[in-house]
Amino acid sequence: MNVSHNFFQNVYNAWMKFEKNELAAPSVSFLGAAQSVSGSMHLVQSGPHRYLLDCGVNRDDRGKNGVQSASFPFDPASIDAVFLSHAHMDHCGNLPYLIRQGFRGPIYCTHATRDLIDVMLNDGARINENRNRFSHSSRRSNQGLFDYDDVDDTLDACVGVEYLEPVAVNQDAQICFHDAGHILGSASIAIDLLHLNREIQIYFTGDLGRRGLPFVADPTIVPPADLIICESTYGGRVHDSLEQMATKMAQAIGSTIERNGKVLIPAFSLGRTQLVLHYLQQWMTEGLVPKLPIFIDNFVASEISQVHDWYDDLLVPEIEGVPFEWLESDEEATQRSLQSDPCIILASGGMCDGGRILHHLRYHIDDPRSTIITVSFQAPDSLGAQLLSRSPRVRFDGRIWNKWIEVAEVKGFSGHADQNDFDVLMRDAASATSRVRLVHGEPEAMRSLQQQLTHLGFADVAAPRRNEIVYL
Ligand SMILES: [Zn+2]
Repeated sequence: MNVSHNFFQNVYNAWMKFEKNELAAPSVSFLGAAQSVSGSMHLVQSGPHRYLLDCGVNRDDRGKNGVQSASFPFDPASIDAVFLSHAHMDHCGNLPYLIRQGFRGPIYCTHATRDLIDVMLNDGARINENRNRFSHSSRRSNQGLFDYDDVDDTLDACVGVEYLEPVAVNQDAQICFHDAGHILGSASIAIDLLHLNREIQIYFTGDLGRRGLPFVADPTIVPPADLIICESTYGGRVHDSLEQMATKMAQAIGSTIERNGKVLIPAFSLGRTQLVLHYLQQWMTEGLVPKLPIFIDNFVASEISQVHDWYDDLLVPEIEGVPFEWLESDEEATQRSLQSDPCIILASGGMCDGGRILHHLRYHIDDPRSTIITVSFQAPDSLGAQLLSRSPRVRFDGRIWNKWIEVAEVKGFSGHADQNDFDVLMRDAASATSRVRLVHGEPEAMRSLQQQLTHLGFADVAAPRRNEIVYL
């Protein structure tokens, strides 16, 4: 822990010692996704009320073997309500711990988000159950990991809301969810607070989608506010166009067919898998990408796709005529990975750190006929980043492997706004917004977006450290 981090932690701890103070100025504390892309969580305090924006798992806080422990720098029982932006685990994954540790209020989210966290958190409980089984046999303790009962309690606390329908949380707070165009059900949240007869507006973007990538809706234009809490994942970068994406995909798939190899695509279960499948089908139908059998090795994604079917009014219509198959067992996955004919295997594990992609990488990492195509952001310490690096070898499964597989990257599948999107989404709010605080980004991306927004005319743009507080 460095000195500045200590300083902010001390200030934060001192602040938290105060009882809820009716006269204190409303504030926002940035408790997660500060100078990083995971663990979204921000605490809003206004008079006697406390609200939590998101309650996500922080990738950096994982213990040995990826086991997460959740402790909160506040009393969960003191939180009035949670406003949840969407169902990715780095935004919702610690909700079961919040409830277990005393939170008893409502969790406001869209109906689709509620149905998606049902799948995501139950999958988390299943993983925890397996960890507990393993820890009993190895005498290591994973006690305290959330279970199916905690997930049931979390789902019971969810209050589904419609986009664009304001909800009164209490007499001092109103919220309104806007489509963030990131994944099914994702929302940016407008929070109107009344404090000592003063109206204060906070706009939390959540994760903002990219425009012009028809699958979910385009993200909502960001309105002016006293404080905009803005994600910054792809600050300073520009996504490939749909045409460039199709061309890159066609090249990678075409050359793999010529070598008689397999195409592996690692993709996150929620959002990315459905998006990549949609565009593979579309490009194959349009003749832009060579037709190949598509297999999906991702149990959770199959459940998530069922939820997508319930909300087809929020999505573009499915593409008919290009079939795909879910792989349902290890044996089936191995058989497809080792079959003689080329095929595409879309597998779980967006950054290759875990998930079903590892099963297939073991067969193909040193096979120069095959190709792995990354379609997601790869954190610097991930296996995906090792694959994209120039190093001829990679490390996983406790050993070093020759990296003879072809590696390709198709960037545009990101569910996040890029530099051009921020320009359009933020421009209108510039002159009438007091402050912007950037979250959910690596420091370099934050610096770029900070410069861009300042150039657009925003008066006060900064990237808070973890536990930093802004008073309103
Ligand atoms: Zn997200």
